[in-house]
Amino acid sequence: MKTSITSTNFATHHGKEADRILRNCVHCGFCNATCPTYQLTGDELDGPRGRIYLIKQVLEGKQPGRHTQVHLDRCLTCRNCESTCPSGVDYGQLVDIGRKLVSEQTRRSPTDSFRRFALRKLFLTKHLFNAAIIAAQFTRPLLPATIKRKVPAKPKPLLQWPDNEHERKIILLQGCVQPALQPNIDRAAALLLDRLGIQTLRIPQNSCCGGISHHMDAFDEAHAYIKSNIDSWWPYIENNQVEAIISTASGCGVTINEYGHMLANDDDYKLKAASVSKLSKDLSEIVAEESLPASAIDTSLAKAAFHPPCTLQHGQQVRGKVESILEASGRQLVAFQESHLCCGSAGTYSILQKSMADKLRDRKLNNIQSEQPDVIATANIGCLLHLQSGTDIPVRHWVELLV
Ligand code: SF4
Ligand code: SF4
Repeated sequence: MKTSITSTNFATHHGKEADRILRNCVHCGFCNATCPTYQLTGDELDGPRGRIYLIKQVLEGKQPGRHTQVHLDRCLTCRNCESTCPSGVDYGQLVDIGRKLVSEQTRRSPTDSFRRFALRKLFLTKHLFNAAIIAAQFTRPLLPATIKRKVPAKPKPLLQWPDNEHERKIILLQGCVQPALQPNIDRAAALLLDRLGIQTLRIPQNSCCGGISHHMDAFDEAHAYIKSNIDSWWPYIENNQVEAIISTASGCGVTINEYGHMLANDDDYKLKAASVSKLSKDLSEIVAEESLPASAIDTSLAKAAFHPPCTLQHGQQVRGKVESILEASGRQLVAFQESHLCCGSAGTYSILQKSMADKLRDRKLNNIQSEQPDVIATANIGCLLHLQSGTDIPVRHWVELLV
């Protein structure tokens, strides 16, 4: 694709990156075939090719309006288009650049701005979020069915965090919302790793990976979270004390993978950020290298469907690992149609774009439920809760099935 990016945009690191990415696109439109939003609306501007054109126009100096922002907002950032593109167009990076430029040049309505601000504050302020969960538990009988399914009737007994020391160590990012909603996921991961001879370190200063702020236009706030994480991990990294940095939420994992890109323009942090991204791994990549302990073999809830989150299969390009682990644990894994498509969760998308998100969830669940699994396994808290809101089949993080 030919480009004529304005000299002001081209003078920036992101402008040059965008130009390189745009030039790889041959506007063939193959990507539209696997884009969930294009499949729902059939509108060219709700597909990757159309969005690429919109971003190109902004980089070339066209003033973006609300119309441009609406079509970029509707993108799930699932990156299915990247997996499909024969020319290797790095859509994820391009849409990040496009969204930033558009947010600098357009004004959201006061209601939209407030909703985004309130969501960020709710998710990123631990005591506020914990209080909201407790309130939801008390008022559970009064909640609509879709929300009720996301809130457990009473908290499950907490798994014991292992206190063994091992030579092999990894850092686990605890994240923002998962510890309050499903504290046993991280504990299950630490227990499984402990049984494999790997010690899981929790660094107290860690909070959000930065993804929530980044996806809601709060770029400075996202960078502050990222830098704070890097600072807290750095002493372990520079002394070669850890072999990997993981998160049990693939949405956080993909954000950590991108730290190098996100801080490429920051002279103080770019090298550290690149080192952190290099160490970032999905939990399944570590477990798949090991032989499962006998305690992980279990044939209750025998028939399992694994929903691979987009952040795992497209964002991190990790495929087939969880499936092999579940099969090694004695589960019969059922295949289902359209497993490459997004379930509609996509961070805060299920709240900000509820109608599209619910349609995608129901489509996903119809495909899964036609195979009648006993349990649906996944690898991301957002997908887990979103899918659970539409079904009575238990939806669990895969690692919880192994301890
Ligand atoms: S992003 Fe890739 S698949 Fe989509 S139009 Fe461009 S070259 Fe074709
Ligand atoms: S990231 Fe997903 S929703 Fe966005 S354009 Fe690509 S395939 Fe479509």
